[in-house]
Amino acid sequence: MTLAQALREAAATFESRGIEDPRLVAELLLRHALSISRVRLYQELKRELAPREEAGFGRLIERCLSGEPLAYITGHREFYGLDFYVDQSVLVPRPETELLVERALALAGERNMAAIADIGTGSGAVAVSLALNLPQVRIYATDVSAPALKVARFNCRRHGVEDRVCLLKGDLLSPLPEPVDLIVANLPYVREEEVSSKGLAGFEPALALSGGGDGLDKIRALCRGLSKELRPGGGLLLEVGMGQSQAVAKLLLSLFPEADIEITPDLAGIERVVGLMPLSAGAKRLAGLLS
Ligand code: GLN
Repeated sequence: MTLAQALREAAATFESRGIEDPRLVAELLLRHALSISRVRLYQELKRELAPREEAGFGRLIERCLSGEPLAYITGHREFYGLDFYVDQSVLVPRPETELLVERALALAGERNMAAIADIGTGSGAVAVSLALNLPQVRIYATDVSAPALKVARFNCRRHGVEDRVCLLKGDLLSPLPEPVDLIVANLPYVREEEVSSKGLAGFEPALALSGGGDGLDKIRALCRGLSKELRPGGGLLLEVGMGQSQAVAKLLLSLFPEADIEITPDLAGIERVVGLMPLSAGAKRLAGLLS
């Protein structure tokens, strides 16, 4: 079988099984099986696959058909224009989480920041994106999971920011060595009972997804410990799930009645990032709307 035939067959199988972008997925898997670039794939379309190569490609196709995320199979995921290594010890970075990075960069552009913390960093995608875009800022990135921190360390090295991102193991804010100017967090916020259906076909770590009964356990715990870990005038940006923004905004207002709360929708119109801005930096005060 030639590479071209193998691609056609795989794409047809994916299409019949309802996998999105079947041709693209087939290409990525074949390139991964053969460890070749896209250009080489196209140069070699007419060559015959060796039996070992064909078997290898077949195994990748099976993994994909079983529902395993492409990012885990290939070990690659793009986030904020950067390539990240991911495996099953971390959540696959989602496009909507780029909003967290965007909001953080916007705030960092408005005021001087010496240190930012990314709590529950997972693959390190948010921390690395911030580090690359904010060369003057110290970044702390924490996670409870040692295997996740290994992935984050790998990604820090890959992007040359290992000296500027300080990786710390521990629960939520507990490992932070000093108060920071901004805390960003994409904590687990999926309701416990939804975790198995939401974590991409059960492949993603429940630890990175489950936020307890109403999904807000981790977010509540972080918010309660916040005042000690923020510098005067410091801010917080939290990613939340669909329908959670108002509850989180209320929680923050109950803890920080004087603060400005900002809610930013993602591209799908879902209120995705809730921000707490003790200084009103153009932030919209929702206190009145919420009461
Ligand atoms: N956005 C992810 C999902 O819906 C959840 C991420 C999280 O819990 N932080 O699958």
